[in-house]
Amino acid sequence: MFMAVESTLPTPFRTPASDKDAKALQFIEEMTKNVDSVQERVLREILSRNAETEYLKRFILNGATDRETFKSRIPVVTYEDIQPEIQRIANGDKSPIFSAHPISEFLTSSGTSAGERKLMPTIHEELDRRQLLYSLLMPVMNLYVPGLDKGKGLYFLFVKAETKTPGGLLARPVLTSYYNSDHFKTRPYDPFNVYTSPNEAILCVDSFQSMYAQMLCGLIMRNEVLRVGAVFASGLLRAIHFLQNNWKQLAHDIATGTLNPKITDAPVRECMRKILKPNPELAQFVTMECYEENWECIIKRIWPRTKYLDVIVTGAMAQYIPTLEYYSGGLPMACTMYASSECYFGLNLNPMCKPSEVTYTIMPNMAYFEFLPHGSSTSCLVDLADVEVGKEYELILTTYAGLCGYRVGDILRVTGFHNAAPQFRFIRRKNVLLSIESDKTDEAELQNAIENASLLLKEFNTSVVEYTSYADTKQIPGHYVIYWELLVKDSANAPTDDVLNRCCLQMEESLNSVYRQSRVADNSIGPLEIRVVENGTFEELMDYAISRGASINQYKVPRCVSFTPIMELLNSRVVSKHFSPDLPHWTPERRR
Ligand code: AMP
Repeated sequence: MFMAVESTLPTPFRTPASDKDAKALQFIEEMTKNVDSVQERVLREILSRNAETEYLKRFILNGATDRETFKSRIPVVTYEDIQPEIQRIANGDKSPIFSAHPISEFLTSSGTSAGERKLMPTIHEELDRRQLLYSLLMPVMNLYVPGLDKGKGLYFLFVKAETKTPGGLLARPVLTSYYNSDHFKTRPYDPFNVYTSPNEAILCVDSFQSMYAQMLCGLIMRNEVLRVGAVFASGLLRAIHFLQNNWKQLAHDIATGTLNPKITDAPVRECMRKILKPNPELAQFVTMECYEENWECIIKRIWPRTKYLDVIVTGAMAQYIPTLEYYSGGLPMACTMYASSECYFGLNLNPMCKPSEVTYTIMPNMAYFEFLPHGSSTSCLVDLADVEVGKEYELILTTYAGLCGYRVGDILRVTGFHNAAPQFRFIRRKNVLLSIESDKTDEAELQNAIENASLLLKEFNTSVVEYTSYADTKQIPGHYVIYWELLVKDSANAPTDDVLNRCCLQMEESLNSVYRQSRVADNSIGPLEIRVVENGTFEELMDYAISRGASINQYKVPRCVSFTPIMELLNSRVVSKHFSPDLPHWTPERRR
């Protein structure tokens, strides 16, 4: 018998798919109805358990656990503010600095500080909180898409390289931590959450072997697949690109029932041995579909029962929507959750809505959330229950693991409420200029990369007078395009093609480790390109901006462009194109 749920979710199908779903939906209702009291409790729990930590004692909280005292004493901080303490933990200091519970590992964020991934301390029990949020996703989805227990999900999921800090703590991305946890590895069977990818394939650190095995399983089980996904849109497009490059070998494996010898990982080989059987008919089908020049609708053609794509296409990922629409033949794209290394925030209660309408409901039990009205001073923080519709806020976080008043860097707009819980549209991440997948390059990093690269031009008496950039995602993998206007003082000694190619590589060497990892380990970003434009192009750009109402006094060259007329202008003035001739340097070890 299903429990009766007083669900206020605006859904076409009000009946939960199972008892388990009913409980999950009930939990969402409770949390969203009691946002303020849950938040009060969460802060009380965090402050009382961490009362004796060095950080809270520094601000003389004296055991207070109420919001007023917290707000008046605890400063709003950035990662850089707490980096000395983080470094001490990384170096092996086990005293309770942020958290009374031992720090179990560091989660390496895709946000960087001084070129390296930020290290987010976490505690063991945070895994339960993440698990809890995951457990709410399917019950909501089942309300909108019935029958998801009648097949499988083809999800391209990956782990990344792990490192240890000098003090011996593991440092790895949050999903690598989650997929390696028992929560994931030994998850109980759930007919609504059956994946085509075996754990062995997901947990293989070699990205080629992992992707190969996952794609092979996806093809073998093509008639069972009901949803296709990856965490971010860029990941799913990478998988399609992978199929474009590897379908011949995949079809060969399927035809013969033998595994590509490039797959050397023993657990992957062992599990594929059980799954892979000769199937010439399927091999022929794959060949017929992939041989075609036209890859439009390829997802629907290969996986005809797919009901939706499960990928995040909000924020920086919105740039991939048209390409995904092309490959999927317009399948709905579900953005189910909003999360980070610091904390999993919340979920989309209407996951089948259009990408432009996605809103996330922050679950008040995950952490204590405050909101800084965009452009206001840090003394004006607003509580989760008090944000106002239509306003934009920066998200501030206080976690069980000990981050206090921490600026995540995300800007969110309130679009409405579900019960008493505000719903947020993800607007943007602060200070991000360029992003292809999880890389986030800001203006200062770009400027620094340009300066380093232009040192190579010195001996040619040449300088970069103006520049701008563009994240080109028309092809997979996407790549950074940098437009340069050069001042060549001696045209007889102009920089050669080779030098300009090396400038591309020098820029890549100067970019942050997430960018370089994507280039080297994941192949998810293509070689950086410099397009040299005619002299006077940037002046034309300014004339264009002024003609559209910009003030001459205040005009600044945009350091990143995407507006079509501007792109057309720049591209029509290109005199030469140059690409990075090699991979930049990257190893899992941190540079500092
Ligand atoms: P990381 O710390 O590397 O896990 O990155 C977390 C960041 O990714 C968040 O702070 C957001 O900026 C971004 N992000 C996560 N989920 C979403 C989402 N659903 N939509 C848009 N951006 C997201």
